[in-house]
Amino acid sequence: MAKSLFWFRRDLRLDDNPALAAATSRDRPVFAVWCRSQLSGLNERQVRFVLAAVGALRTQLAARNATLSVLDGEPATAFCAAAMRLGASAVFCARALDPRERDIEKDVETALQTAGIRFVRVGCDAVFEPESIAALKQASGAGYRVFPPFYRAWRSLTIPPGVPPAVPDGADDTPGVLENPPGPPGMPEPTEAAAARALERFVTARAADYGANAEYPARNATSRLGPYLRFGLISARAVVRAVQERMNRSWTLEQERISMDAFLRRLAWRDFYLHLAFWRPRTVDEPLQEAMRGFYGANDERFFAAWRDGMTGYPLVDAAMRQLHMEGYVHQRAAIVAASFCVADLGLDWKTGRDHFLREMLEADPALCSGNWERLAGIGSDQAAYPRIYNPIRQAMLFDPQGGYVRRYCPELARLPTALIFAPWEIEHRRQTELGFFTPQSYPRPIVDHAAAASAFLRAYQEFRRKAMSVQGTPARRDVGRRP
Ligand SMILES: Cc1cc2nc3c(=O)[nH]c(=O)nc-3n(C[C@H](O)[C@H](O)[C@H](O)COP(=O)(O)OP(=O)(O)OC[C@H]3O[C@@H](n4cnc5c(N)ncnc54)[C@H](O)[C@@H]3O)c2cc1C
Repeated sequence: MAKSLFWFRRDLRLDDNPALAAATSRDRPVFAVWCRSQLSGLNERQVRFVLAAVGALRTQLAARNATLSVLDGEPATAFCAAAMRLGASAVFCARALDPRERDIEKDVETALQTAGIRFVRVGCDAVFEPESIAALKQASGAGYRVFPPFYRAWRSLTIPPGVPPAVPDGADDTPGVLENPPGPPGMPEPTEAAAARALERFVTARAADYGANAEYPARNATSRLGPYLRFGLISARAVVRAVQERMNRSWTLEQERISMDAFLRRLAWRDFYLHLAFWRPRTVDEPLQEAMRGFYGANDERFFAAWRDGMTGYPLVDAAMRQLHMEGYVHQRAAIVAASFCVADLGLDWKTGRDHFLREMLEADPALCSGNWERLAGIGSDQAAYPRIYNPIRQAMLFDPQGGYVRRYCPELARLPTALIFAPWEIEHRRQTELGFFTPQSYPRPIVDHAAAASAFLRAYQEFRRKAMSVQGTPARRDVGRRP
């Protein structure tokens, strides 16, 4: 029988892994391989998480007398060398959708083909293949640019059935060394079993109320599957199947179904941004809206530091940024408000904010992060004519009405009555002094006036767009909209 290698990439699991199943159904032995180049571009938290997840996979395979080999160096050379050393005639993997990984994949393919070794790609880590969604598009051109029609197409497709767990069985005498640094505090358990448990917890305890609770950062109401999906410790298709199975139960209430539907819609955003990066690779680093490609924000160190450190004087923004720094996670609603504040109120460039999120988030993913940032900056995938600017006080009143989230991450505000917690500067001076606010050691005054800053941003934005549009659809000059 032919020998082959299986390349673990963003799919660090055995269950529901079509590429792995394809390899093991054809060839024996199949040698499991992971390439250290997978760590490049990841932040410190992610590196630790991935190393621990690969280590756990290694232990799982060792229990079955199989190995997981660690390849060092440039992937194309490393794969050729490993295939030859182990006598493999094929390398299997799931294909990548993001531009950086696709470039690596092409190099590996070319090198293997030159060496006479087959390179077989099966599936990808989105729920649906980009081509199967794009095929439903009425207008010509690749993939959807906006979410609503994408989502209609996404919902119209049937999820393929799950693939049973497959186990590589190759035993490599020299599998290489894998370091095992301690995980960051609070890191979710980086195993496939823990991911499956998190999904089970979500579908049994939270999915039915997701629609009602997910927007409230103080409630622990979302799935927290982000890191597991990011590195493929669980398959996105398995998540959809589990939720749909609940939805289809005869005793599931209509209200619960609507709630689960809201979750699936959220999950579809992941596919949307992954597909966008596949069809339009430039948009991972440049605005999707061609007309807005020169609309830069400022690079103000003082503003950036205040935003990054959660010291803007706007409690919901500050709670979000502190949560991000402490936990490597930020609740989505809080992230939206913090990102909008960064771009619109502080006038910082969207990439400055995006890069900070990429450095901090455990589930950071260039396609998803850029997609969300561009959308919030009004330069990405949105049909609106101008960016939605989020009022940080109003958003706090709406989504953290008891102030529980703000109190958790801004302890210096914890003693304030709820009515005052979102705009502490409005407390009359004598009480501020009594409570110890607005001293250098304590909570800062707002660094900008939201209403004034947001309207200045909107004016600059509209002016830039007007000029860009008047240049007959050609991208505007790169410096037209530079703001001070
Ligand atoms: C400015 C900004 C940047 C973001 N950057 C990232 C990122 O780099 N990586 C990342 O995984 N998510 C990102 N998100 C989306 C979202 O904040 C996280 O996916 C979510 O908070 C993870 O928590 P959860 O798993 O409990 O989410 P749930 O609400 O339970 O959602 C389930 C899954 O759906 C997907 N999802 C949900 N919302 C979105 C969304 N808006 N865009 C894309 N996918 C989504 C995620 O994979 C998520 O794990 C970003 C959001 C914002 C506003």
